[in-house]
Amino acid sequence: MQQRTLIQGGRVLTMVPGDDAAVRDILVEGDRIVAIGPRIDVGDAQVIDASDCIVHPGFVDTHRHTWQTQLRTVATDWSLFDYVVEMRCIFSMFYQAEDAYLGNYVGALEALNAGITTVVDHCHIINSPDHAHEAARGLMDSGIRAHFCYGFWPNPTSLTPFTLTPGEPWRFEAAKALRKGLLSSDTGRVSFGIAPSELEGMPFDLSRSEIQFAREMAASRISLHVAVGAYDAGERMVTRLSDAGLLGNDMLFVHGAALTDAELKLLADSGAGLSVTPETELQMGMGIPVAARALAAGVQTSIGVDIVSNYAGDMFAQMRLLLQTMRSQQNLDYERAGKAPRVIRPRASEVLRLATVDAARVTGLQGAQGMLQIGDKADIVLTRTTSIHMTPATDPVGALVLNANASDVDTVLVDGRIVKRGGQLVGVDWAALSKRLRASSERILEQAATVDAAPIRNFVSDMFKNIA
Ligand SMILES: [Zn+2]
Repeated sequence: MQQRTLIQGGRVLTMVPGDDAAVRDILVEGDRIVAIGPRIDVGDAQVIDASDCIVHPGFVDTHRHTWQTQLRTVATDWSLFDYVVEMRCIFSMFYQAEDAYLGNYVGALEALNAGITTVVDHCHIINSPDHAHEAARGLMDSGIRAHFCYGFWPNPTSLTPFTLTPGEPWRFEAAKALRKGLLSSDTGRVSFGIAPSELEGMPFDLSRSEIQFAREMAASRISLHVAVGAYDAGERMVTRLSDAGLLGNDMLFVHGAALTDAELKLLADSGAGLSVTPETELQMGMGIPVAARALAAGVQTSIGVDIVSNYAGDMFAQMRLLLQTMRSQQNLDYERAGKAPRVIRPRASEVLRLATVDAARVTGLQGAQGMLQIGDKADIVLTRTTSIHMTPATDPVGALVLNANASDVDTVLVDGRIVKRGGQLVGVDWAALSKRLRASSERILEQAATVDAAPIRNFVSDMFKNIA
């Protein structure tokens, strides 16, 4: 007999199109939702009281570099230029396999704590085969659902002289080993994906070989940064990938403010997904988030948290930022025309869709569809509405998108398993874990402080041709 859990009496927001929030029970058996109804009587189930909670699908974060968790706050005032110099070329070099494990494990716990039940981890901290294995293991141990996208980006192996060695054979061999070993399952909770080295910073032939390799390995998703505002320097990588016959619906492009309308149409026609990451894009000079244009073009669009080295890794803040950015764009159009808006767009429910059901479509994970419906995987969140900033939660959508934060997340189930209950992560000794995380952080920061960044700044200036 499988474990049965009854989530009782919550205000259920299924995210099924056309279905309004209503008080219901949800019965979970094993890893699936088996019943949803106004009153379900089940004698032997464990009962979770959901009164005073909004019950909704887990959030789906379609882009995160989870490994950066122990570097929280270092990126507070960074541009993308600073980020590439400091994070991608200096801090990354000092990560050992144990650090990659801790970053991914604790980062995934942070996501779960905030009600994110699926993450696309774009993991470019693969300094050795052990790093790959440990980073993937961190996700697995956390209990989160994930695409682990094995990163091909070569972190420096030496700073004096500054040395990057892209495309080394061991990177392909280590990916194969991971695919055959830890991530051999196509139906498991953590699946195998690929994150090619930067399209706009590496030779096109290398990108092509990494994308072809991803398909030989039957990678679940191919995660690619693209068209990062003026940093992009007009590379038109989506056009080039299309011309090379490489665009496909297994691809997940990230950022994309500099995509042309023609390129957005190419994405829509190919079925490729897009992840907009509002906060890094707004902060780091990566252009205005492309969501409104992408949606108008019919691109499958979603939201990514991106990094926690400058802000907390919940979806609430990203939904709020994206919603108000999109509204401000439209309101500015009115203002330029000397008009005031009668209605504002988009509605909060549209952005909530981008973080749940639309995002789930972008990830392509079978059964985990960002909705609460019978037969689906039980990835369920109970968000409490009793805090001072959530009372009264008259409109549940507005409560989630514009009022809630991670501290309101009461209970989280992934694959039917309870990973957070009563506001506490289950089976996590945070006092001991945070001590390990701080020790890792201190060692990496100490080593990074000894580096002369001047040669790296020159290298990155060459890579980004439009730096002011
Ligand atoms: Zn990224």
